[in-house]
Amino acid sequence: MSRFQVKKVAVLGAGVMGAQIAAHLANVKVPVVLFDLPAKEGPKNGIVTKAIEGLKKLKPAPLGVAENAALIGQANYEEHLEQLRECDLIIEAIAERMDWKLDLYKKIAPFVAKHAIVASNTSGLSITKLSEALPDAIKPRFCGIHFFNPPRYMTLVELIDTPTTTPEVLDQLEAFVTSGLGKGVVRAHDTPNFIANRVGIAGMLATMKEVENFGLTFDVVDDLTGKKLGRASSGTFRTADVVGLDTMAHVIKTLQDNLTEETDPFYGSFGTPEVLNKLIEMKHLGQKAKAGFYKKVGRDILRFDLAEGDYVPGGQKADEVYGRMLKKPAAERLKLLRNAEGAQGRFLWAILRNSFHYAAVHLGTIADNARDVDQAMRWGFGMKQGPFELWQEAGWLDVAKMIQEDIDAGKALSKAPLPEWVFKGPVAEAGGVHTAEGSWSASKSKFVPRRQLPVYERQHFPERLLGETNLPDWRTAGTTVAESDALRTWTLDQDAGPSGSRILIASIKSKMHAISPDVMEGLVEAIDTAEREYDGLVIWSGDAPFSVGADLAATMPAFVVAGISAIESVEQELQNLMLRLRYAQVPVISAIHGMALGGGCELAVYSARRVAHMESYIGLVEVGVGLVPGAGGLTYIARRAAENAAASTGKDLLPFLTEGFTAAAMAKVGTSALESRKLGYLLESDIVVPHKDEVLFVALNEAKALAASGWRAPNKRLFPVAGRSGIATIRGSLVNMRDGGFISDHDQHIATLIAEIVCGGDVDAGALVSEEYLMALERKAFCALIQHPKTQERILGMLNTGKPLRN
Ligand code: NAD
Repeated sequence: MSRFQVKKVAVLGAGVMGAQIAAHLANVKVPVVLFDLPAKEGPKNGIVTKAIEGLKKLKPAPLGVAENAALIGQANYEEHLEQLRECDLIIEAIAERMDWKLDLYKKIAPFVAKHAIVASNTSGLSITKLSEALPDAIKPRFCGIHFFNPPRYMTLVELIDTPTTTPEVLDQLEAFVTSGLGKGVVRAHDTPNFIANRVGIAGMLATMKEVENFGLTFDVVDDLTGKKLGRASSGTFRTADVVGLDTMAHVIKTLQDNLTEETDPFYGSFGTPEVLNKLIEMKHLGQKAKAGFYKKVGRDILRFDLAEGDYVPGGQKADEVYGRMLKKPAAERLKLLRNAEGAQGRFLWAILRNSFHYAAVHLGTIADNARDVDQAMRWGFGMKQGPFELWQEAGWLDVAKMIQEDIDAGKALSKAPLPEWVFKGPVAEAGGVHTAEGSWSASKSKFVPRRQLPVYERQHFPERLLGETNLPDWRTAGTTVAESDALRTWTLDQDAGPSGSRILIASIKSKMHAISPDVMEGLVEAIDTAEREYDGLVIWSGDAPFSVGADLAATMPAFVVAGISAIESVEQELQNLMLRLRYAQVPVISAIHGMALGGGCELAVYSARRVAHMESYIGLVEVGVGLVPGAGGLTYIARRAAENAAASTGKDLLPFLTEGFTAAAMAKVGTSALESRKLGYLLESDIVVPHKDEVLFVALNEAKALAASGWRAPNKRLFPVAGRSGIATIRGSLVNMRDGGFISDHDQHIATLIAEIVCGGDVDAGALVSEEYLMALERKAFCALIQHPKTQERILGMLNTGKPLRN
């Protein structure tokens, strides 16, 4: 089969999911056309137009930058079916009705290109039944593609084949969804609600049942079942509010309608909880209705109380003792909970036991193997670990015995015994379902390895599940060149021959990858080593964030001993590091994922290139703590303005400075790589990567490509600044902003200092300056501010609350 290229995608249905899927396609630069029914009144594309407008306002934002809404083509089934002929992939996401979907398939069939893949985003309908309405020619290219809401942010996509789907089709789609869209693919069997919603919703129903059994309140349950349990911070009931109680009821109904006591021995616990029925009856559908299990009134969060039939004060927390228990090692944790005196502890054991029990009983039918179940729960429900992983971590057979005891004692939600493979044979011998050989497939009775598709060669360090000891850990992989507590330099290029480029990797080890003096020293050494022995340097530190900036706390001892001059010298060292990066004799690539703030942003902009995950949040945030960027960030803004002005016909520097000045003065952070690019922290030549686990691969290749094409550091040169007239102009608008009450006196003071630096201080417009000159201005302002009482208040406020204080 020839290579499958996705040049254009059609999304059918501009509802909640279809519109957001189209937005994500626009984010990752895939041309997309969005279809819906023709509007009964007004322009025929009305429904789609309105949906696209809605994308700009939706939170969390489905679009990386709002103006990308314009990239989504608009179409309707009456006028534009011809456009389907150009599409390589058609994703159907219309309302969840089998008859409507089948009608639509009949309508589009004559227009589907011969090679195109057609996939449905249904959450609950049988993919096989849907495929039966298609002409034989399309059936081999039809499958399920189940995105999770919100599709930009949720990693999981379940792919579901039918007996007539050609295996290559699923492989091709998996490659596109993984690398092109940046998602984590799990293959699910065509069973009701597939894997994540089946296990997840059954889990939520089971939790609600146990809440009744143990007589707990929603706020306490959410406190117990959120972060403390390694799950999404919204816990159980707030998650339901976010999802929408009608949607939740719909998914529950799919379970009720499509399963029976025979096909699911937990069927007895699938009844819609009374409280859910009551809330739906009251039209309290969750967040979108501003009331659900919770309701916000002024600053108070109220919780619904079924007995009262009304909202009562909420915000109650769980007993602290359980918070402590949940921090214990897995084996101890589960035993402590099971034997706990209090209801909250026993409740926690009960819901975990139910999740293990449910996953084990259904593994053979809903998924090929246990890896797909655990990944689905991580990626689709925001769990830190899937049910099998936790079970395995806590001691497979010990936990199995505890579960079976509860089943025998009638405490479990179903009498179904644990499957035999739990106690006997390879799983019992290996101590769990995930091993170096692969993960357990209950239907095949063997451990099966990960799917070996070429696309996964782009992930040097895929997310590992517990027990997958065959997969490398980036902290120890490759060959270590130097290592301290602060930084590891290493290489993956053991076998690069004499002509192959060899790239050094520097990984920061500090918490949140903050830049301490030790990290700085390590980075300078890494550049030295790279220049001496390698062809390039990639700064990549594994997990997000890229770096949250300078570690001011680490400089405190020096500050106490030597006072402000210690701070000034740390700033100077940071600036020297940035210049060293920029003028290194080998290309330095920043490989970014997550936050790159303050000094982290400066590391990025002083690198030769940036390779950034789509979810990269880059910005100079120092103003939030009452400081100015002091490690070259403002110098960068001034230089970029001069370069952009030089490339245009305009002589005036100020217009080119405005964006950068505003970004720094308002501590703006890009809410995606695309927005970070708009703020000027990423350039057109930088690469945005959809999948986080491909960032290192792309960065290494970019470094090699730059080296191979004869990369040289930029020439050091002077550049013009806007000077005192520029400062005067900016000052004028700052006065207006202060007088209008938009900024405080201290904000105005800091912004004026920023203006003075980016304009080059008290010089004529067009005066030529060096980076070192501007950096000296940065240091002066930084040191003056750090001694300012209002700045000190902001720093303390941030340390105490984690939030910027506006004073
Ligand atoms: P929605 O109600 O928001 O949108 C449905 C769209 O279908 C609307 O734009 C509507 O105009 C269109 N439509 C209605 N009747 C039609 C017909 N007869 N022919 C053609 N188009 C028609 O629905 P949604 O939540 O976006 O769900 C769409 C699909 O995605 C469903 O199959 C659903 O199960 C699935 N899904 C939903 C979620 C979720 O959280 N909402 C998550 C994953 C999958």
